[in-house]
Amino acid sequence: MIKLPEINKEIVKAHKEWIKDNVRCSLQEKIKNEKSIDKKIIYVCKNLTDICIGNDLETHIKKIGVIENKKSSKILEEIFDYSNFSREIPPKWGRHKFLTELKVRTCTYCNRQYITSYDEDDSKKTTADLDHFFAKSKYPYLALSLYNFIPSCAICNRTFKGAQSTYEKNKLKVIYPYKESFGEKCSFTLKFETFKEFETFEEFEVKLKYKKQEERVKKTIEMFKLDQVYKTTHNDYIRDMLETFSIYTDDYIEEMSKTLGGNNNIVLEFQEAIKSSYKFKIKSNEPLGKLTNDILLEYGIDLN
Ligand SMILES: [Zn+2]
Repeated sequence: MIKLPEINKEIVKAHKEWIKDNVRCSLQEKIKNEKSIDKKIIYVCKNLTDICIGNDLETHIKKIGVIENKKSSKILEEIFDYSNFSREIPPKWGRHKFLTELKVRTCTYCNRQYITSYDEDDSKKTTADLDHFFAKSKYPYLALSLYNFIPSCAICNRTFKGAQSTYEKNKLKVIYPYKESFGEKCSFTLKFETFKEFETFEEFEVKLKYKKQEERVKKTIEMFKLDQVYKTTHNDYIRDMLETFSIYTDDYIEEMSKTLGGNNNIVLEFQEAIKSSYKFKIKSNEPLGKLTNDILLEYGIDLN
């Protein structure tokens, strides 16, 4: 689980315009023709801009809650029509454009799959799903909210998360990536005494460690089956990384420096070349960035 950036001003501006043209008018029109209006819909109408572009969706959920009234739910579903935003041939603004502008490079939930943007027939396309963190079936008024859109891979969105609830009894059930991430609350571990032990094991397992009281972390791991998908899938990558650092130890590099007549510049460049791809992976939230960071930290391998 990675943390998503604050949504930039350009995206907010484009979305605000789109909401004005596509939602506000139809909402006002609908209300005008209704004899009695549900007070939840009146609240949505008054707070429409903040619901669609604001970053505090929990406040609105606390005020409005789940829409149980069928008539109100139908009205809101018609007005907050996500299919209009995700049309295959998008206009100036829509799902693909949002994903492209957000510039998130991997699936937010698993940090394993790349998200790629590409052009086709003069329109922007992306390889990612856009998950609604708060289900639009329960909260139809959040179907077009920027801070409810989570770039994710199809496996995390459709196979694992599906219709599972992320919010219950006025509380977040899992990590909400616009607010927090696993960060230091949860890390990958191999549990070897020293990292050289990997050489003696044919097979090993990646585990996730976290404090018992971190209930949201636990639920997030369960929801996206992170313990399962990381268990052994990336062992070749981990082995390769640890092998690199076990060969090019400080002693080896010092020896190399002596062989080169004490030419430290070449040695420093060589060290940097080894470390830079891992540094980039971690800094840019590339796939497996968190796994890389945690395993290197676990064995005190310093990239600086
Ligand atoms: Zn994923």
